Amino acid sequence: MNKRDELLKQIKDNVINCQKCSLFKTRTIPVIGQGNHKAKIIFIGEAPGFNEDKTGVPFCGQSGNILSELLNYIGLKREDVYICNILKCRPPENRNPQTEEIKACVPYLEKQIEIIKPKIIGALGNYSASYILKKYNLEDKVQGISKIRGKIFKVKTSFGELKIIPLYHPAVAVYNANMKNILKEDFKILKKYNG
Ligand code: URA
Ligand code: SF4
Repeated sequence: MNKRDELLKQIKDNVINCQKCSLFKTRTIPVIGQGNHKAKIIFIGEAPGFNEDKTGVPFCGQSGNILSELLNYIGLKREDVYICNILKCRPPENRNPQTEEIKACVPYLEKQIEIIKPKIIGALGNYSASYILKKYNLEDKVQGISKIRGKIFKVKTSFGELKIIPLYHPAVAVYNANMKNILKEDFKILKKYNG
């Protein structure tokens, strides 16, 4: 195992045993992350849903099918990118993440980002976009996702320049072709910067 694999494995072990918020009591399997440990793009969603909670695989239900389709549209495979979430355990009935849960869980996500050292973060949906912008001191840029989706926010990190691109959450396109078209347009931006 190389260093990144080892460090990501440590996170996995920690998450599996984590009891830092009450979600560990109701979840089935935590969903840690999946994909290329050297990915240039990390996609960050909100939290596992029903299917993810059963399988441990991020974005494996209807939203996941849309995400795979969008990646395919820009010539990428799931294996080319890294996919994870703000929360590693499913909130009951898919309710919204609570502030305390986000606070407890994000150290895992922060480590994942530091290990993978992406060039681009695709922040899927409101929770993800607002968390990531705040994390990189862009609190003043936080607005509803419809206002900031497809914009590029450049920040400096310990591992170089990072582009944050807020995107609609793929769930919005499950029954809405128009939304899917907007997502496709925004994914073209990812393609452009993925080099
Ligand atoms: N929605 C998310 O935000 N994440 C998943 O993994 C699945 C659905
Ligand atoms: Fe731990 Fe995160 Fe699961 Fe809460 S959601 S128990 S903080 S891994």
